[in-house]
Amino acid sequence: MSMKEYIDSAEKDLLHTYNRYQIVFDHGDGLYLYDLDGKKYLDFFAGIAVFALGHHYPGYDEALKDQIDHLIHTSNYYYNVPAVEAARKLKKLSGMDRVFFTNSGAESIEGALKAARKYAFRKDGRTDHEIIAMNHSFHGRTFGALSVTGNAHYREAFEPMIGNIKFAGMNDIESVKALINDKTCAILFETVQGEGGIYPATKEFMEEIRKICDEKDILLILDEIQCGVGRTGSFYAWQQYGVRPDIMTTAKALGCGVPVGAFLMTEKVGQASLEAGDHGTTYGGNPLACAAISKVMDIFEADDIVGHVQKITPYLEEKLDALAAKYDFIKERRGLGLMQGLECTIPVGPIINHCLEHGLVLINAGTNILRFVPPLVIEKEHVDEMIEKLDAALAESAEA
Ligand SMILES: *Cc1c(COP(=O)(O)O)cnc(C)c1O
Repeated sequence: MSMKEYIDSAEKDLLHTYNRYQIVFDHGDGLYLYDLDGKKYLDFFAGIAVFALGHHYPGYDEALKDQIDHLIHTSNYYYNVPAVEAARKLKKLSGMDRVFFTNSGAESIEGALKAARKYAFRKDGRTDHEIIAMNHSFHGRTFGALSVTGNAHYREAFEPMIGNIKFAGMNDIESVKALINDKTCAILFETVQGEGGIYPATKEFMEEIRKICDEKDILLILDEIQCGVGRTGSFYAWQQYGVRPDIMTTAKALGCGVPVGAFLMTEKVGQASLEAGDHGTTYGGNPLACAAISKVMDIFEADDIVGHVQKITPYLEEKLDALAAKYDFIKERRGLGLMQGLECTIPVGPIINHCLEHGLVLINAGTNILRFVPPLVIEKEHVDEMIEKLDAALAESAEA
């Protein structure tokens, strides 16, 4: 079938919940994607910040194939070797103490919210605890995750949400303080807001929140689903802030393409929140998914992926800054590591379409922001190629 025929078939059979780009990708190779017609694209989107190692990183495919030959699934009624290894390695890289494996980001948020409520419940037996989340946040599409997502547009048609969620302003400490009372059990935010427009938490905000949480025994939950796993130049972004969350969520790049996530917590929360019978999942921590995590952790350590991100980031920033200086409609660049945004004064949809025509996969964050979340293994030559293609697309948009 042709690309057009596949797309027509998809539009008849799949529920129309996405306005997709008119492309069917066929295979990937390193930093490049190929569509069914053989057209080559430089991938600066990485499947929403998932393909941290690009496509077919040496050793990754083999580890998965090997696990398929051994054992794919057992359920959590038993132990399995890949889950034990993945948990040990993830603990080491994260500095957290207890791991619960999930299948997605949203499920990681669900688990984190349940753990926070249970922690508070075990302290005072009340069932009216409140959670503070941030405006413009994004935490996923299930009811719990949607309830803490600070964008009314995503929530409106699905009300009522889970109760007792309040929204404060990201990096606005006074707005958080104004919402805190004796029912507050957790404060949740993304260390770097992704979908909301690439806004990193400020150091002062992070430190102040940590202080308040310590004083009042409120749990700090950091969502690292998009910004985690090396993207910002540390394994988890919060590791650059000199604080530690009580609970954190991770997914997207954790398995580098295999659907998997996790929520992690400190020993203190682990001992005083979810107990046997409180939470579960059929697939979470399955041997195939954990073989992927385990191999990804090995590669990050052996090949110093985080060090590479630190090395390549200034080059990307410099080149993006040059574009920002060149085009009036680019307002500013912001971000952390290989999670960058260019905020424009115009909608970026047409720019992204021009990029695709030039063979560059790029995505937006909101209407006006170009988002850069490439595989972490990019080299300067890929930055140059991306800038050249983006520059051409921007010039076309400037003319229009
Ligand atoms: C993508 C994302 C989620 C949701 O993850 P899913 O795997 O799509 O459920 C949650 N939080 C953040 C910050 C994300 O970027």
